[in-house]
Amino acid sequence: MPKQSHLHCSFCGRSRDEVKILIAGQDGHICENCVEHAQEIISQELQLKTESQPASFKLTVRKPMEIKKFMDEYIIGQDDAKKVLAVAVYNHYKRLQYRQTESDIEIDKSNIIMVGETGTGKTLLAKTIARLLNVPFAIVDATVFTEAGYVGEDVESMLTRLLQNCNYDVNSAERGIVYIDEIDKIARKGDNPSITRDVSGEGVQQGLLKMLEGTEVLVPPQGGRKHPEQKMIKVNTQNILFICGGAFDGIDKVIARRVNTNAIGFNVNKQLQDYQRKNLLQFINAQDLKSFGLIPELLGRLPVVTYLNPLDAETLRAILTEPKNSIIKQYNRLFEIENIALTIDNDVYDFMVTKAMEYKLGARGLRSICESILTEAMYELPSSGQKALHVTLEYAERQFGKSKMSMLKVA
Ligand code: ADP
Repeated sequence: MPKQSHLHCSFCGRSRDEVKILIAGQDGHICENCVEHAQEIISQELQLKTESQPASFKLTVRKPMEIKKFMDEYIIGQDDAKKVLAVAVYNHYKRLQYRQTESDIEIDKSNIIMVGETGTGKTLLAKTIARLLNVPFAIVDATVFTEAGYVGEDVESMLTRLLQNCNYDVNSAERGIVYIDEIDKIARKGDNPSITRDVSGEGVQQGLLKMLEGTEVLVPPQGGRKHPEQKMIKVNTQNILFICGGAFDGIDKVIARRVNTNAIGFNVNKQLQDYQRKNLLQFINAQDLKSFGLIPELLGRLPVVTYLNPLDAETLRAILTEPKNSIIKQYNRLFEIENIALTIDNDVYDFMVTKAMEYKLGARGLRSICESILTEAMYELPSSGQKALHVTLEYAERQFGKSKMSMLKVA
């Protein structure tokens, strides 16, 4: 064992007297200066490594059937929309992969528009596809956008959201998906738009045109309005897939008018005619969307039109328990983490569905109804030591009756 005064740092050679601290290892020592130095080297190296790592968003292209199968795990029904979306998304990314080849046939972009009541799964569809393909995804609301010069946000700020969601990785963002919700709210009101200046409608539609088609856009990194002294990020939207969604309240009447004049259902049996009358959305096309107030130029850039069915009781019941991360599975997990076994009687599910239908809240209502039934238990049980909760119809009715939700008037 060397004498104390002969000890020195095995890295820089300084002796014990020249340093404040000398840490002993198995065969050597290190002083505080060298520890600090080593720390700097480590953090520099680690930073370099993360910077040179490939982007975490690596596009995985899937075939349409695979895309649909994946969607089936998370979304109940809506088969037509799933198929149309699967094909459109597949073609979009195929176009992107084979862009560099010598073929002089350029494939157009297949931006999509989905029509369906609120809470039928439009956002969920778009989100699920983005997750499967592993591309950045942003949800924006068309109602916040206004024509340049007015209070509100520039349409470019939707790309800010996309950039933020992939840590400003421009390359990945340029292959991402943007879901524009409430596109119906920027429809031109009435047939004569020039009587009053239509700030939120046609102007915004015009603003969207270039972006949907594909262009270089200067994006404000923090969103909001562009201002001259702000440093902008350049984003090319040519390969960004835009999916628009809206409820288009009352569009069934527009479709009915067209369908009647086209005599669809002629020569088919009465039952089929009734079915067609009730499910008019399946006949939707760009012409109906134009009658609703979307400008033809915008529709031209949204070539794929599809629809979502309203959710009936049977579908709502399935939504509660069947999807991979269904609401009930989520609650089960929440209780499981607390080591509480949650069991729910079948008639409770029926009760939840009936209430969701009554309140006309669609699938979105199911969550609030579950919450109102289970909140008290979730508040009390973690402190009570109780290891099981069995939800009977009587318990569910009682808890729901006490909730704020039950005080709301049914529409
Ligand atoms: P929209 O965008 O059409 O208004 P969302 O996609 O936001 O509706 O749906 C709201 C919620 O309802 C989703 O988070 C999801 O839990 C549920 N949901 C709606 N439709 C379905 C469906 N077809 N399958 C599974 N869950 C659904």
